[in-house]
Amino acid sequence: MILVGPPGAGKGTQAARLVEKLRIPHISSGDMLRAAVKEGTALGKQAEVLMKEGKLVPDDVVIGMILDRIAKPDCANGFMLDGFPRTVPQAEALDVALTAAGVALDAVVLIEVEDALIVERVTGRRNDPKTGTIYHMKYDPPPAGLAVVQRADDTEEAVTKRLSKYHGETEPVLPFYEGKGILRRVDGVGSLDEVTARLQAALS
Ligand code: AMP
Repeated sequence: MILVGPPGAGKGTQAARLVEKLRIPHISSGDMLRAAVKEGTALGKQAEVLMKEGKLVPDDVVIGMILDRIAKPDCANGFMLDGFPRTVPQAEALDVALTAAGVALDAVVLIEVEDALIVERVTGRRNDPKTGTIYHMKYDPPPAGLAVVQRADDTEEAVTKRLSKYHGETEPVLPFYEGKGILRRVDGVGSLDEVTARLQAALS
């Protein structure tokens, strides 16, 4: 399955909750790229500046990274993609690879949150670098004394660019999945538990 939605819709947080229940790997292209940046690999060096500016990493790079990942044995019983595909060429490459592997997508779940809410959500976001747990300074504050960090691309300037990339490049992917009859829309505004419950209902 695929989780899709604007930056700050709650994909990462909800994916972590869902995979615990579904027992399938959570494959986040953003997390994989951030790990490459941290490790200082060639891929990380190529991605770092683009990510910081809220731009997309080139399709061929991300496609290769994700297709390699979903070919691993732990994906044999299913997997959840988060943050990929983000462009029409990425969706097409995924479709070709899945068809060749005889794998059918069960669901593409769109978490919907209007733009006006996104900037406040994203600029208040922090994470625990040790566990990856995501917090929000106003809505889900970290425990007192926990040292949390902000993503380099969670500034107002970068998120505005990321939102425009979402509308311009990612939304055009949706009709493709709608045409296949597997797109499910879920309202992403509400408490974490409410949104998890809506996602579970959409998947059942
Ligand atoms: P995310 O954690 O999903 O918000 O991704 C963070 C950043 O990583 C994005 O703003 C892009 O710069 C890059 N990125 C993640 N996934 C993709 C993708 N599928 N295609 C291109 N760039 C990506």
